[in-house]
Amino acid sequence: MSLAHITITKPDDWHVHLRDGEMLKAVLPYTARRFARAMVMPNLKPPVVTTAQAKVYRDEILSALPKGMSFEPLMAAYLTDDIDPCDLERGFNDKVFAAAKLYPVHATTNSESGVTQIKSMRLVFEKMQRIGMPLLIHGEMGDPSIDIFDRESAFVDRVLVGLRRDYPALKIVLEHITTRQAADYVADEGRGGKLAATITAHHLLINRNSMLAGGMKPHNYCLPVAKREVHRQALIRAAVSGGGMFFLGTDSAPHPRTAKECACGCAGIFTACNALEIYAQVFSEAGALDQLERFTSLNGPAFYGLSANKDKITLERGQDCISSDLASVIVGQQEIIPFKSPINLFWRVVDQ
Ligand SMILES: [Zn+2]
Repeated sequence: MSLAHITITKPDDWHVHLRDGEMLKAVLPYTARRFARAMVMPNLKPPVVTTAQAKVYRDEILSALPKGMSFEPLMAAYLTDDIDPCDLERGFNDKVFAAAKLYPVHATTNSESGVTQIKSMRLVFEKMQRIGMPLLIHGEMGDPSIDIFDRESAFVDRVLVGLRRDYPALKIVLEHITTRQAADYVADEGRGGKLAATITAHHLLINRNSMLAGGMKPHNYCLPVAKREVHRQALIRAAVSGGGMFFLGTDSAPHPRTAKECACGCAGIFTACNALEIYAQVFSEAGALDQLERFTSLNGPAFYGLSANKDKITLERGQDCISSDLASVIVGQQEIIPFKSPINLFWRVVDQ
């Protein structure tokens, strides 16, 4: 029995890791069922740097799509110290690249090829500013001397403020924000339509206790790491605010269970299978269901200069808890453990 339901414009996921090969085939249907488009992260091994590589990867994604499903992958270029700005421009003009992603070197998973000196990217950023190509940023300092819980706020202070000053017309998305400082900065500075932020579903639900108290939970470990509760509360306020500078990006990042549950477990949480349901629940509990569509489906396309999707999707709140509906996703000999919501989930996507 449905206790409540909401029909919204079909959402887009503005930040997702689809991987490649067998992993791609296993995880893609979860994203394609819920999202019409997604900004696909380029941190494969090797990373997606050139237009030619992005075309190959886009084709691989489309051919991994189950029959009868429609989905549009939007490709991001992986910025390196020696990226070719002309190829980047060509890829953007030819609608192969929708954006370019900046990983400060060593900031996160597969960021070894990332940018070592942001100042040396001047020609690339100037070109992107001129052609209107958005810059997506993993906003953490890669400097190992900075405390891991401070790396995002330090990035805002030491790098992002300067980027905004030097390239005021460059469209920037600060990805997967986790701090009150980032939320406040984007809420203020984003009013001009050139700065926005994505917020993940898991950062709306977990704080650092969820990862570290009562035993270490490797499946709640991601980068940027979850912060104190006051930051989680600030993220909820930002997401439900209706502000056009905040929109959905799951950062769903599947890893084999053995790579998460080991002596040096890797960062990343797989949420493609329940992120939309979590957003619905969070907005519902905040009394802000009327803002859900803006966050999931309207603010993102508006920022990127795209039309909202034509299709609709319906979510309903049932009586049954769906939190443990999916125990794992099998990939060959491996399995991926989906994010376990710390609160009971009652919202589900209604099949069309
Ligand atoms: Zn990511």
